[in-house]
Amino acid sequence: THFGFETVAEQEKARRVADVFDSVASRYDLMNDLMSGGMHRLWKAFTIQRSGVREGSRVLDVAGGTGDLSLAFAKRVGKSGEVWLTDINNAMLARGRDRLLDKGYMVPAAQCDAEKLPFPDDYFDCVTVAFGLRNMTHKDGALAEMYRVLRPGGRLLVLEFSKVWKPLAPVYDFYSFQVIPRVGKLVTNDSDSYRYLSESIRVHPSQEELKGMMEDVGFEKVEFFNMAFGVVALHRGYKF
Ligand code: SAM
Repeated sequence: THFGFETVAEQEKARRVADVFDSVASRYDLMNDLMSGGMHRLWKAFTIQRSGVREGSRVLDVAGGTGDLSLAFAKRVGKSGEVWLTDINNAMLARGRDRLLDKGYMVPAAQCDAEKLPFPDDYFDCVTVAFGLRNMTHKDGALAEMYRVLRPGGRLLVLEFSKVWKPLAPVYDFYSFQVIPRVGKLVTNDSDSYRYLSESIRVHPSQEELKGMMEDVGFEKVEFFNMAFGVVALHRGYKF
């Protein structure tokens, strides 16, 4: 609220998000492949391609979870660069860190809330948040923090579920609310978490709304790229 207090609903949401990711962490990667038919790999590859990250870049992966993006960036930035894997959830972060270590990458991992990033101003060349923003209680606060830690000329990439092309909405709703919770039940024995995830996608801002939110905190040249008919969109904006 504008008094700086968390409402009961906000606290409830944060607790729900923590429960969901505690519950799904161990099977998260498998579920991602199942639910998206492997397509999340292509969406992430596109994100990396648009990131401008190269040897020597400093990259912050917010809500990085099991570390798909961090791993790809770690391969790119080389020894002179820096990649930070961060997440609010310890179970997800631990999996991410272990996965990267198994592949031979020692990436620093920090457990932190995107709304209070423990990094100095103007530090990173690129900040990414993939499928994380919709879980955040104060999206504007989180976006402002990402803006703060970017250096002038740096860019933010937000990969997130978005508003699907209207004619496909009924099919997509059926898939989200009927199919996904059932697959979730089979794989993780937890249909509630996946029902929550589907619901969080439905209430997430549209492509245009998110673009506006990024502009409101100061991002410039904001554009978005729809993928899979708007099931997912990549937003990119710059700090100048
Ligand atoms: N980025 C990874 C990927 O694309 O596979 C993980 C995405 S996962 C769907 C969402 C992640 O957002 C979870 O690991 C969750 O813990 C994290 N998260 C939720 N709220 C957060 C917050 N306020 N700050 C940081 N991370 C948060």
